[in-house]
Amino acid sequence: MKKVVIADPLSAEGTERLQSEGMIEVDDCSSLSREQLEQALTEAAGLVVRSGTTVGGELLDHAPHLEVIGRAGVGLDNIDLDEATRRGIAVVNAPGGNIRSTTELTFGLMLAAARRIAEADRSLREGNWDRKGLRGTQLHGKTLGVIGAGRIGSEVVRRARVFGMNVLISDPYITTQRARDLGAEAVELEDLLRQSDFVSLHVPLNDTTRDLIGAAEMEHMKPGAFLINASRGGVVVESALADALGDGKLAGAALDVYADEPLPADSPLRSAPGLVMTPHLGASTNEAQREVALEIADAVRNALVHGDLRAAVNAPHVAPADRPRLTPVLGLAESLGRLLAEITGSRCDRLEVRYAGPLGDVLRPLAASAVEGYLTSTVGLSINLVNALVLATSRGIQVARVRLGKLPPYSNHVELAAMTDDKEVVVAGALLGDGRPRIVRIGKFHVDTIPSGTLLLIRNQDVPGVIGEVGTILGDAGVNIAGYHQSRLEAGGEALAVLSLDDALDREALEELSRLPGVHEVRQIHFEPQPRPRPLHELEPVEEPSPDPVGAPSSG
Ligand code: NAD
Repeated sequence: MKKVVIADPLSAEGTERLQSEGMIEVDDCSSLSREQLEQALTEAAGLVVRSGTTVGGELLDHAPHLEVIGRAGVGLDNIDLDEATRRGIAVVNAPGGNIRSTTELTFGLMLAAARRIAEADRSLREGNWDRKGLRGTQLHGKTLGVIGAGRIGSEVVRRARVFGMNVLISDPYITTQRARDLGAEAVELEDLLRQSDFVSLHVPLNDTTRDLIGAAEMEHMKPGAFLINASRGGVVVESALADALGDGKLAGAALDVYADEPLPADSPLRSAPGLVMTPHLGASTNEAQREVALEIADAVRNALVHGDLRAAVNAPHVAPADRPRLTPVLGLAESLGRLLAEITGSRCDRLEVRYAGPLGDVLRPLAASAVEGYLTSTVGLSINLVNALVLATSRGIQVARVRLGKLPPYSNHVELAAMTDDKEVVVAGALLGDGRPRIVRIGKFHVDTIPSGTLLLIRNQDVPGVIGEVGTILGDAGVNIAGYHQSRLEAGGEALAVLSLDDALDREALEELSRLPGVHEVRQIHFEPQPRPRPLHELEPVEEPSPDPVGAPSSG
């Protein structure tokens, strides 16, 4: 049973959905003190918050077993994503539940500004009947400029078409064809501002969108245009908007979101003419609250029970259809990472993960798996596919991913190279016809070994008698040899023996082996039985430490 702590109020339907398959018990701490929340987190595998709880390192220190944080909603401003990622905690959110409600509020705001509805309401309550003074603007036939045509923006486009509006889109990540399919035209931001009667923002708040619409952009807007923002405060420069409304440059505006929330009492927006304001109500409908609660419950449950992190923002999703084929390749990469860490013994500057085979978007999760195996015995933190690459970067290890052009004679071939300034050590593995992983190369030697249980590597001089003496020492130690693979570069030269053992050798036996004449080095490695069940097996990190030099040649 895994425990999920609810830190902010979540609808009862969400709580029920979380527990619907069993295996999860919910601890509702939404009305408890911070101390009680911290106490509850000590055993928690999941944490669900809305915007009320700030989740940073301090809170996470109380949650040593946390696997997933669920944000019921879309904004992640209250979650320290880097810290969660560093700790290997997946963060999932629920961006879908808000879409319809926020889209509808956008039109509510647009109509309220264009038809001066709030102003008319106030005037009427004050005893007036001012039909002439409250003349407005019709939407039909006007041009709407949508900045950001993602989930909400594209719904706004669809509805605007029904209102009979012409629609322009500015979104660097939307193709011309996608815009056309929505019934709109993709243009540059400045063109959109110059041509639109209404401009509506639907972008996330990040470094590229902060202050996206300031005085200069408002200067580009048509005289008498309207500006609507139901995305995030901080995207519009509020002082510039107050000035543009005060000067009559803009006919009106409508805001649901603000740089500082709640809106400060002395904000110049409070007295700006022609401005309609709502207090961040985009998702404030019964339907959105219910949908968000159900969506986050599914996301958290899928993560904890099924290891499915399609909703994770710090671990992009691997398509479910690819998972059965991907899992053994990821297991192989992790084994190669463990093997390489064992035989190189020290740290490297660069790890290169190379792949040849039929799988498409495999390099990133493969690199994360290999790094997970490579660092697993050296990092203090628990390492998984969410944080593996971030931890590699923080240790100064550059991770490169290479798709090999030439297909070796295996269905999936993975190489892992540890590089320092003057040295490169390569291990390689493959999935053979039976789908089971094999190690096929260790340094210069070609081998054929299943990475499972305990492996003993003995590097020695190829002279008569070594195999017999090794057998004697293992026999005396009571350890059975399940497989013995001897590889050499040339007769009498350097050789590598790879032994699969039924049990691990103790230190005494290992030392005895390393004292044998002709033996240069002895290493014992423990692998998980294959395949290792990994709840987070399909994760891959968002942050990538290095570019992807696709097509670079293999070094061997
Ligand atoms: P989304 O991620 O689906 O879409 C965002 C779009 O913005 C993407 O298509 C992206 O390509 C585009 N974009 C990014 N940078 C851009 C730039 N510089 N110029 C133009 N386009 C850019 O997000 P969504 O779910 O549609 O949400 C949109 C916004 O609405 C977000 O900021 C979200 O937080 C906010 N939101 C507000 C409320 C509310 O209560 N008012 C509710 C839900 C969502």
